[in-house]
Amino acid sequence: MSSTHDVRPGRLSAAEIARNYGDLHPPLNAHQAAVEAARCLFCHDAPCTEACPTGIDIPGFIRKISTGNTQGAAVTILSENIMGATCANVCPVEELCEQVCVRNTAEEQPVRIGRLQRFATDFLLENGIQPFRRPPESGKRIAVVGAGPAGLSCAHRLAMHGHRVTVFEARAKPGGLNEYGIAAYKMLDERAAREVEFILDVGGIELQNEVQLGVDIYLDDLREEFDAVFLGLGHNSVNRLRLEAEDAAEVHDAVDYIARIRQEDLATLPVGRRVVVIGGGNTAIDIAVQIKKLGAEYVTLVYRRGPDVMGATDYERAVAQTSGVLIKTWARPSALEADDGGVTSVTFEYSRSDGSGGVEGAGETFTIEADQVFKAIGQGFDASALSAEGLPAIEQGRIRVDTERRTSLPGVWAGGDCVAGKDLTVVAVEDGKRAAESIHRALLAGATDNRGD
Ligand SMILES: Cc1cc2nc3c(=O)[nH]c(=O)nc-3n(C[C@H](O)[C@H](O)[C@H](O)COP(=O)(O)OP(=O)(O)OC[C@H]3O[C@@H](n4cnc5c(N)ncnc54)[C@H](O)[C@@H]3O)c2cc1C
Ligand code: SF4
Repeated sequence: MSSTHDVRPGRLSAAEIARNYGDLHPPLNAHQAAVEAARCLFCHDAPCTEACPTGIDIPGFIRKISTGNTQGAAVTILSENIMGATCANVCPVEELCEQVCVRNTAEEQPVRIGRLQRFATDFLLENGIQPFRRPPESGKRIAVVGAGPAGLSCAHRLAMHGHRVTVFEARAKPGGLNEYGIAAYKMLDERAAREVEFILDVGGIELQNEVQLGVDIYLDDLREEFDAVFLGLGHNSVNRLRLEAEDAAEVHDAVDYIARIRQEDLATLPVGRRVVVIGGGNTAIDIAVQIKKLGAEYVTLVYRRGPDVMGATDYERAVAQTSGVLIKTWARPSALEADDGGVTSVTFEYSRSDGSGGVEGAGETFTIEADQVFKAIGQGFDASALSAEGLPAIEQGRIRVDTERRTSLPGVWAGGDCVAGKDLTVVAVEDGKRAAESIHRALLAGATDNRGD
């Protein structure tokens, strides 16, 4: 097997990289937005609003755009989803609001709700308008752990009820995966940081970065010190292949490398000539597309099941294929080969359904030469990161919550990727919002004893 290890930065010029990492969908201008808004039929029962996890009044905001009230449209969006600017760019709209648009039937083209949402929210953020005002202080203090979409959404809603919130964040920057995970071409121009600024600008929220629960602070102490606690911890572990040579040079966890793409100078990142990505979800697609955009010559994504059950949406798969990524299904890794310089190839065994929901090997194998390998086979939640004692109940590897996002511990709520449900930004925002409303009700009732399940 060849062992040339062709991995280097700057496979493309800075100009080519900048072009490849440009806006996936350029913003609508005012005329285009007006034309698109005019396509909305303002359905009485609004299936789009039903399909949006945060329940945005979509016909309502589109009507405001069509009457030239862009600021009003943005307020309608942000009142339900404070991260509406991010969601406009990252929501898989083809599976949510736009999927159910009645325009699909007659014209096979939904109203472009996400693009209109971006038009309205960009207007507000770019003009530095703060439409929200805090009511007088309630005197209550809440600790939010994790400054991702779930934590920030919860913090904002609590602040809007007059409560005082301290957000503890392990990383150097807030934003969670908006800052460190979402594909760079969906989150241009420091969008994540601008959105955090906008959220904090409402007042009453103190952010403490580089403070880690389980290391610098402990759940038991937070429960003593604060009137309520919200955990928005996201995922904190990645699955392993459990193959020899998994720790060889140039075998990467996709999420770690994606964080580098978001934080470092793209021209300095090491990029392989022949890249193999293992996995079938959006993280796998995101790393495959982004490494191709950095100049990798051959990128092969291999998934152990069929295309119909891939976690990545049809749209995301189409983006990968048009970017030049080869997608191979029904094969699972059986060996990683490496020498002193790092990984050299990956051997896969063809796989098939075992007839009861699982996957089994079909015996035959094939080998793909690789200079760089990315593992994107799922992330999880490791509860041991919290503290040794006083943990909330865990169910199937996530924090167990009820419909109000109350955990099994009195006074402790949780939401986002650390609880069961779809791992999407918009779902995390809704979790944070619901938890905040539940906390507010509990505080008004004079009790944060939430042992209700
Ligand atoms: C590569 C990738 C691409 C994605 N692309 C999309 C997309 O295009 N569209 C979409 O809708 N969704 C996408 N997602 C999913 C989306 O990003 C998540 O569902 C969402 O960010 C979850 O929000 P969260 O607040 O629960 O968690 P996170 O965003 O992970 O935030 C959790 C925060 O908690 C902090 N934290 C963790 N442990 C501790 C601790 N012990 N103490 C203090 N702080 C702690 C973390 O540092 C982090 O800032 C993507 C995910 C990945 C990995
Ligand atoms: S938040 Fe997402 S799902 Fe909801 S309306 Fe906006 S783009 Fe659609």
